[in-house]
Amino acid sequence: MIEYSIVIPIYNEQENLPELYNRLKQIIDTLEGKSELVLIDDGSKDNSLQILEELNQKDSGVHYLSFARNFGHQIAVTAGLNYAQGNAIIVMDADLQDPPEIIPELIEKWQQGYHVVYAQRVSRKQENWFKKLMAYCFYRILNRFTDVTIPNDTGDFCLMSREVVNILNSMPEKHRYIRGLRAWIGFPQTAVKFNRDPRFAGEVKYTFTKSLKLGIDGIISLSRKPLKIATYLGLLTALLAIFMMILVLFWRLYQAPTQLVGYAMITIAIFFLGAVQLICLGILGEYIGRIYDEVKQRPIYTVKKAVGFNKIQNINH
Ligand code: UDP
Ligand code: MG
Repeated sequence: MIEYSIVIPIYNEQENLPELYNRLKQIIDTLEGKSELVLIDDGSKDNSLQILEELNQKDSGVHYLSFARNFGHQIAVTAGLNYAQGNAIIVMDADLQDPPEIIPELIEKWQQGYHVVYAQRVSRKQENWFKKLMAYCFYRILNRFTDVTIPNDTGDFCLMSREVVNILNSMPEKHRYIRGLRAWIGFPQTAVKFNRDPRFAGEVKYTFTKSLKLGIDGIISLSRKPLKIATYLGLLTALLAIFMMILVLFWRLYQAPTQLVGYAMITIAIFFLGAVQLICLGILGEYIGRIYDEVKQRPIYTVKKAVGFNKIQNINH
């Protein structure tokens, strides 16, 4: 019977894996109960998969699966949760930004009866100000837009109970924003504070566009409020139009007619309305695109190889 599963998505992390394994091993050895590592190779192009194979050969507690291509971080975590066999499931990054040393603290809270114990950052070392600012604004916008409260400055680093993971696994949606879904599920949740370390080695895999995509997924999967923006923008432009009508009337009555003002106003109005309509179409498109992705009912990921898992998992497919 496996007690703890540690789920780690991996995309081109060959420099980090040996150190990650060593640090995790030290922690795992101190835990009571059997643990497994669930390592998901998200279509890495470097030697990560070979390293996983070697780790599995020398340690039977290392289980891994390999995607047929890169599907992205959230999908890799989803697959890990599908395959994990433990009673408590810990999700963390492979780059040692999430220190394995706080795992015992997470477990302690779980033993006290919490179903979700998320690690909350108190500092971000060596991340640039732009990323910090984006993260700061994003979490605050998200909480405003959605009905669930996602605690500020939490990422995917957390422990979840078997019950919570079963519910997550039963959610078939394709665009997954795990920390949002995790908050949506409910159950007693608590935080453990930690200092986020800099990446141990290698490049950041989350590019600006990937982060932006994740952010949009987060807001749209949890909220329909952006759709209302269309209504508000419509009302706002109607008010502006009335204001312009009054202005034009005023000019006609009290000023000598100058063509220039008229042209400028028409051009501005056309551009402005065009922009408003495109924004609204874009927002609609985001939702319709997601509906399309859901109705296609494709599997969320394709697995090339899975080693060390007993049951044939068939969730989400
Ligand atoms: N990752 C992944 N697939 C991707 C991108 C990232 O599995 O397409 C993994 C990566 O190997 C790491 C984790 O997701 O374990 C977080 O990535 P990263 O450190 O680049 O992001 P950040 O620390 O900026 O959130
Ligand atoms: Mg990182």
